Amino acid sequence: MSITKGIAILGSTGSIGTQALDVISNFPDFFRLEVLTAHKNVELLIEQAIKYQPNSVVIGDDSLYGKLKESLANEDIHVYAGEDAICQVVESTEVDTVLTAMVGYAGLKPTLRAIEAGKTIALANKETLVVAGELVTKLAKEKGVNIYPVDSEHSAIFQCLVGEFHNPIEKIYLTASGGPFRGFSAEQLAQVTKEQALKHPNWSMGAKITIDSASMMNKGLEVIEAKWLFNLKPAQIDVIVHPQSIVHSLVQFEDGSMKAQMGLPDMKLPIQFALTYPNRLPTEFPRFNFLDYPSLTFEKVDNQVFQNLDLAYRAMEQEGVAACFLNAANEVAVEAFLQDRIDFIDIFKINNAVLEKAPKILSPSYEDYVLSDTEARILATEICSSKNKA
Ligand code: NDP
Repeated sequence: MSITKGIAILGSTGSIGTQALDVISNFPDFFRLEVLTAHKNVELLIEQAIKYQPNSVVIGDDSLYGKLKESLANEDIHVYAGEDAICQVVESTEVDTVLTAMVGYAGLKPTLRAIEAGKTIALANKETLVVAGELVTKLAKEKGVNIYPVDSEHSAIFQCLVGEFHNPIEKIYLTASGGPFRGFSAEQLAQVTKEQALKHPNWSMGAKITIDSASMMNKGLEVIEAKWLFNLKPAQIDVIVHPQSIVHSLVQFEDGSMKAQMGLPDMKLPIQFALTYPNRLPTEFPRFNFLDYPSLTFEKVDNQVFQNLDLAYRAMEQEGVAACFLNAANEVAVEAFLQDRIDFIDIFKINNAVLEKAPKILSPSYEDYVLSDTEARILATEICSSKNKA
């Protein structure tokens, strides 16, 4: 007899969400699809619901409820709408694991609700830990909830730690591809376009994380994510540029030994590992061939040009709501850049200016984070307006 795991995918219409559906549909004896959610892409949500027959679907934007409900009238699927509904569906007794694959700060509330309800978390939505890592990890500890990383670098660290959980970590190295602007000077970066920034050399991802990768904010967010996931001090986390994206990250132990996890860049593997841990299920994913990569190279990050990484370290050192301020500023700035309202390098300036305004709040409550996010967004929006290119 097989026991299936009930899965909720928050953000099923995105890059991680659609890949997760591919993974899950390969193992019908292992998984049961319980919940799919989207924000606005109702067409794709309808298609997914009909194809995968989850128990419930939720569209974040209430105005699309009518269309969703009508289109699924002949299906045995519960249909809901709105932010609160996303928080409620994760609490269903049929859900065992919640894959948080929505983008941005919006992931925080449903993740907290899922942890409160004792669900295992497969965490792609790194912004949740960036914004409120202290609160989230404390609650997970209290509730005995495991948070398994989906981000490829953190999955790599986690995979290196299997069998080593009793051994202290001396240091971790997060690898970074360097993105489309690797090697650019500050002058060159001042000229780049949205189209260039959206072309990642190795990974195909949603727009927000693709811009974050180009600006190195993604690596900054990942450093903060790693601090909370693996309980590390900022000085124990280093970043190294590795343009081939084959070594996904490394752990160094106290005896000096280093373990790395490697493979072709394909998010399906870390998604699957987060959902099947401690098991490794067979896949048909393409295999790595050493002769296709005769040299794997490593370089220092140019912190002078890509200032976002230093901002992330500053936010970590400052603790409290500083990373929440930085994240909110970055979400506003990236959105403005995608709408052609600011230049690429303005992202650094906005992030820096907003981070400087972060108040010192020790052990923030959920309400502190909500207020901080709002305040930082107002500040960032004001700065964006003053730079408006239009
Ligand atoms: P996408 O932009 O491709 O997808 C985002 C998903 O979240 C969509 O389903 C979207 O719905 C939904 N969504 C967006 N805004 C909201 C909201 N306010 N409320 C509810 N749902 C919302 O993002 P990715 O899949 O690229 O990334 C998702 C998360 O995973 C991010 O945190 C990212 O950093 C992380 N991640 C992604 C990787 C990747 O390879 N893509 C790698 C590692 C981490 P709709 O389609 O309707 O807008």
